[in-house]
Amino acid sequence: MNTVPQPTSPNPDAPAVEPSTDALGTTAAQARSAVLEKLIPKDPGRFRVLTGDRPTGRLHLGHYFGTLHNRVRLQNLGVDLFVIIADYQVLTDRDVADNLTGHVEELVLDYLAIGVDPARSTIFTHSAVPALNQLLLPFLSLVSVAELNRNPTVKDEIAHSRQSSVSGLMFTYPVHQAADILFCRANLVPVGQDQLPHLELTRTIARRFNDRYGAGGAVFPEPEALLSPAPLLLGTDGTKMSKSRGNAIGLAADADETARLIKGARTDCERHITFDPAGRPEVSSLLLLAALCQDRTPQQLADDIGSAGAAALKRTVTEAVNEYLAPVRARRSEYARDRAHLRRTLREGNERARAVADTTLAEVRAAMNSHY
Ligand code: ATP
Ligand code: MG
Repeated sequence: MNTVPQPTSPNPDAPAVEPSTDALGTTAAQARSAVLEKLIPKDPGRFRVLTGDRPTGRLHLGHYFGTLHNRVRLQNLGVDLFVIIADYQVLTDRDVADNLTGHVEELVLDYLAIGVDPARSTIFTHSAVPALNQLLLPFLSLVSVAELNRNPTVKDEIAHSRQSSVSGLMFTYPVHQAADILFCRANLVPVGQDQLPHLELTRTIARRFNDRYGAGGAVFPEPEALLSPAPLLLGTDGTKMSKSRGNAIGLAADADETARLIKGARTDCERHITFDPAGRPEVSSLLLLAALCQDRTPQQLADDIGSAGAAALKRTVTEAVNEYLAPVRARRSEYARDRAHLRRTLREGNERARAVADTTLAEVRAAMNSHY
């Protein structure tokens, strides 16, 4: 008899170990991202981007350098950008979505502050697009429980979950993401490294749907990941910087709070500062952060700091971050004064997303012979 593998239970004492880079396919995705970076500016109209965030708290520097910066850059190159606020997915790892409206508005504020332009791009909430969610049922039929059970990011999320058992929503998380991406036929997804296994499953689902229902054609594209130079920025405790883990430096934090958080960041006991992501992940992540803010290489920064030690490194990082974010923070305060504008942005984005989803669903139903 075949036994169905069961997802492991959440463990609050789980060691703070990230899934390894190779297990996530980061090296191959980085190589492919370099190729895509050459193709995109030549023909930006060929690409549509879907990317987004869970409204679980304020966006942080991991988001910024992992994906947000890429979103705005792609938009400004002429790529069609869809940004999903994944509100249903908040419930993957907790029973209740706290302060949902507040978190959603804060996300929209962050997007506007970093330069997402609602005249060119579509910002929308998952729950407002019913046709998107209808894709979930046929997509679920295309994956096996064993495949879902193998996903290293889901295992990591389960280890950090606030729930005592694994919900079906958590277990099927990558399939919802496939619906989020494929409803608008996005072919490019700028993400952090944790999302690579999910994206691989999206590609599998697209391929299987096309094989089964496409009648020789392709209903869905197989979307590709676009990794940034910071696919995994670490938080102040040395694990993935994450909204839900209390280890994040928020985009909206003020200069003093930023200084305090960076001062408390974990480093190691070696005084001489070197850039060695495998051997010294915490120090290297801080160097990378400052380097990205100052448009320098982490190695250059490490050479400059040398034997001045971790305190000097943290001072450098604090100055770099605060200087880099000052204009974003100023724009954020401006937008925060007009909440009606935030709500209008979302209403218009939801309408646009609904129209796109309705078209896709009609084609899916036709392909599946369920168009009555
Ligand atoms: P949560 O803890 O609630 O899951 P999160 O901080 O992991 O929040 P998500 O909303 O799950 O954020 O992720 C949104 C996007 O940001 C994804 O593309 C993800 O890969 C990227 N991202 C999140 N954290 C980081 C990080 N530390 N480094 C690089 N990219 C990141
Ligand atoms: Mg997450």
